[in-house]
Amino acid sequence: MEKPPEKVVFLLLGGIVLMIMKKPKILQVAQLGHPIIRQKTKLIKNIKDENVQELVDNLIATCKDLNGVGIAAPQVYEPARLFIVWSHPNPRYPKAPNMDPTAMINPKILSRSKEIKKDWEGCLSIPGIRALVPRYINIEVEYSDRTGKVYKKKFKEFVARIFQHELDHLNGIVFLDRAKSKDIITEKEYQLIMSKKK
Ligand SMILES: [Zn+2]
Repeated sequence: MEKPPEKVVFLLLGGIVLMIMKKPKILQVAQLGHPIIRQKTKLIKNIKDENVQELVDNLIATCKDLNGVGIAAPQVYEPARLFIVWSHPNPRYPKAPNMDPTAMINPKILSRSKEIKKDWEGCLSIPGIRALVPRYINIEVEYSDRTGKVYKKKFKEFVARIFQHELDHLNGIVFLDRAKSKDIITEKEYQLIMSKKK
């Protein structure tokens, strides 16, 4: 028996509404000064929870939209231990490894090398400011992906830097906290320095 046409239209509309609702959203980014940026975050217990999965999708969409190399949950007002790392070649790091935006859940550093290197960082929550930040060059880390699978990995240089910057966000720390005051500059001066380096 054929379905009555009204039913088909109804199903079609329902499908469209569902698609729009499920589409990843670009989220507002909290700026330094909002208390969420300084808040400690909570472990994620149920990674497969619909809300966690939706947050991962929205964080990835937001990171891509702003062309960041990483973003942490507190930056979108969610005090949860989750961030996205998205290393990709950019004018500052033309040799940066190319990777898919990756959700790292309940991340931690297992070990770190002694060697520390200072390099420039910026932050979506602190626009217009750059600073030289000392970070460990090599780290060994553990995190769960969005399916709950646990990974142990070694990261170096740029990816290790992103990981440390984002992990700090989960503990209410921003990159300026780790910089010497004389190593903090404006975006305009940073762009001048970068153009002279070429
Ligand atoms: Zn940041």
